Amino acid sequence: MKRTIFEAKTRLLMRRDRRAFAAMLRNERVDEPTFVENMSKSSARIALHSFDSSPFYRDLYTAAGFSRIDIAEPDNFTSLPIVTKTMLRDGGDRLLSSTVPSRRALVSQTGGSTGAPLRVRNDADAPTAAMWWRIYRWWGVHPGDDMAFIYRRLRRGKEALAYAAQWWPSRHIHLDARAITDASIEEFVRKWERVHPRLLVAYVEGATAVATHLAKLGRTLPTTAVSVTAAMLQPGQRALLESVFQAPVFDTYRSAEIPWIAAECEAHEGLHVAADQRRVDIVDDQGRQVREGAEGSVVVTDFSNEVFPLVRYEMGDRSRRIEGRCGCGRAFPRIAPVQGRLADVIRTPSGRRITGGLSGLFLGDPGAIRQMQIVQAADYGIVIHYVPSAPGSGTVAAESAVRSLRELLAEDLPVTAVEVASIESQGGKARLVISNAPEM
Ligand SMILES: [Zn+2]
Repeated sequence: MKRTIFEAKTRLLMRRDRRAFAAMLRNERVDEPTFVENMSKSSARIALHSFDSSPFYRDLYTAAGFSRIDIAEPDNFTSLPIVTKTMLRDGGDRLLSSTVPSRRALVSQTGGSTGAPLRVRNDADAPTAAMWWRIYRWWGVHPGDDMAFIYRRLRRGKEALAYAAQWWPSRHIHLDARAITDASIEEFVRKWERVHPRLLVAYVEGATAVATHLAKLGRTLPTTAVSVTAAMLQPGQRALLESVFQAPVFDTYRSAEIPWIAAECEAHEGLHVAADQRRVDIVDDQGRQVREGAEGSVVVTDFSNEVFPLVRYEMGDRSRRIEGRCGCGRAFPRIAPVQGRLADVIRTPSGRRITGGLSGLFLGDPGAIRQMQIVQAADYGIVIHYVPSAPGSGTVAAESAVRSLRELLAEDLPVTAVEVASIESQGGKARLVISNAPEM
């Protein structure tokens, strides 16, 4: 019934989104040569649009020695300069396109836990609704289904009424991720039991807090799919969420700057880039493509933001490309779950920086812990904080994690592990590494 009303409403009001949605379903099933051709055309098109209409890109590319003809050549795309967060912050309004009407520029604010806030614009004409309809479909969820959200901000008063009217007859329930208490969880559970949402969309830390509370009491909260975002999903967290929500967990990769970059499909073998709308490149410290499968810095291009172009934008995250085609048959390339941020670095007295492999320390026994965090002191000593699945039960896995980390360091640094009740997160994001060691 709800699905029927949703279909009728979108047929009336969202004709453009429905057309975009139909095209997107075709795009994910094209053959390899068509996919490669579409990708290079879209890349050159957005680079050229940026050069032609954004003063920021005009200067950036000119200074790097690229002419308009060079930029139109798809083979040159991976040589174009990378845009860092600092450049974006300094560039400000100079990124705006002069040929796109300013009514399309929707302000999106980001930052907080990872540095100074960043103000970007999303494109009001981007087919964002169709993008999430498509990904929900990968998870067996219809956009008209009832849903639950654990978010950082709640709508109140008039805004809440407008939101509810927009979604009617679908019901959406919310829990504020910034203020999770036993009482607020219980209220959320009461609403859940009235609505029985088919999808939970949550920040990893928020969903983990709810699941931990319920698991302690031996309770479950069944649904059809759980989607998480905004932090690295650790293996123990996935297991916990799947047992409490009795549903598969789908990792997603998205940001305030670029919504819906990648998401897991039903195969759960990496995250498919929504590659008709975004391009993901993995690069080394010099901005060059790494070899297939190697870990590097994630650089994203948004094909559908014409008002505030983001071309070869460095997200500040690390990942790697997964080779081969997914068992689900979709054409879109896959990346491994994001392996922490570039800032998640351990330093050694000899000046080495260790960024890779840190999230896998407990892979020998992923069920043993819920979560971990690596804390490095100013004297380079390292303590692995971990939350065991049950109090006192993670000792053996922790000893093995200490050995793995010593091997990774290949230097004689003190490494210990300590059981903790919880890992502190800021605004729903917990860091994998906190290092207070000086940079050499
Ligand atoms: Zn797949």
